Amino acid sequence: LSDTVCQRAWVEIDRGALIHNVRQLKGLLRPETALMAVVKADAYGHGAIAVAETVLEAGATWLAVATLQEGIQLREAGIASPILVLGAINTPGEVDAIARWQLQSTLCNAQQALMFAEVLAQRQQTLTVHLNLDTGMSRLGTPWQDATAFVRLVAQLPSLKLGGIYSHFATADDPDPTVMNLQQEYFGRAIAQIQAEGISLPLLHIANSAATLRDCAFHYDLVRVGLALYGLYPSPHLRPTIDLKPVLQVKARVAQVKTIAAGTGISYGYKYIADRDMRLAVVGIGYADGVPRNLSNRLQVSVRGQRIPQVGAITMDQLMLDVTAIPDLQPGEVVTLIGTDEEQVISADDWAESLNTISWEILCGFKHRLPRIFV
Ligand code: PLP
Repeated sequence: LSDTVCQRAWVEIDRGALIHNVRQLKGLLRPETALMAVVKADAYGHGAIAVAETVLEAGATWLAVATLQEGIQLREAGIASPILVLGAINTPGEVDAIARWQLQSTLCNAQQALMFAEVLAQRQQTLTVHLNLDTGMSRLGTPWQDATAFVRLVAQLPSLKLGGIYSHFATADDPDPTVMNLQQEYFGRAIAQIQAEGISLPLLHIANSAATLRDCAFHYDLVRVGLALYGLYPSPHLRPTIDLKPVLQVKARVAQVKTIAAGTGISYGYKYIADRDMRLAVVGIGYADGVPRNLSNRLQVSVRGQRIPQVGAITMDQLMLDVTAIPDLQPGEVVTLIGTDEEQVISADDWAESLNTISWEILCGFKHRLPRIFV
């Protein structure tokens, strides 16, 4: 059933666009800077294994995931590249699994480093770790002022190999660079102090998509790119930097078409009453597939290259369209919810704007019930 003809609704993944985006991004990097593809959250909803395989073929050399389980999923699929787990690992069982599956772990503080060392010593294993410094995100990581002591401790633990030191920007997509520049300055100061200790520097990294697009001063030894890989811009002001192509499209088929009379209520709660006789199409996709119910009566889709309004409450498995403009529409025809359909382009950014959220959340919202079909 891996073909679109068998589906009521699906997510279409454009492998060519993914490869194009990797090449565009690589074009921004110095030859010695590596591209780490961030494939956490099932590659932002695109399907982690196929995305990982494609981006590695196209020139990325590292992968990043959020969880141990996401890392194991990639290893089980036979992916051999370095994989960094960005999330915190806090139990001995997880440390053991990280080592067994040859994943690289983030370390956030001294206590965690000591726990890792104890588990690894017992099991006579070594592990490559990346230390996370908090330079202003106030999420995971050791405060940057304490970086030297943290690095010194890790350097003394024979079971831990220092593979990287990294940080994460809080406001890289904001046109105002003040906070970002301050974070970079703190990162630089921490690194200078570490160097002054005579500790040789591992890989340094701080850039997400926005920082990667902004300036090569943020690139260091590798860049951790998520959103831009998938063809979306973190912010409109970063659009001119490179040409990215959206990778994901969401499509569904018309399930039934009928005529309803003026005055007829549509869907749960009658949140929409037809103000005229209307051709109504029922489409086989709903909020259980990841179309947010909050888009009810606001969503616009494309059918046969025409913008069509969605009407009434979006239900779990179906939604309704006012297709009066296409009187001969047939069951089985394809509706584009996100993607390009002739002249119509509907992006995850449009949904994000309508929902007052960010495109990252839209991409991650598509459920497993929608098969990911690579074209
Ligand atoms: N690095 C870390 C630590 C992250 O948490 C993320 C994503 O949230 C990324 C990099 C990639 O960010 P983006 O999708 O903005 O490129």
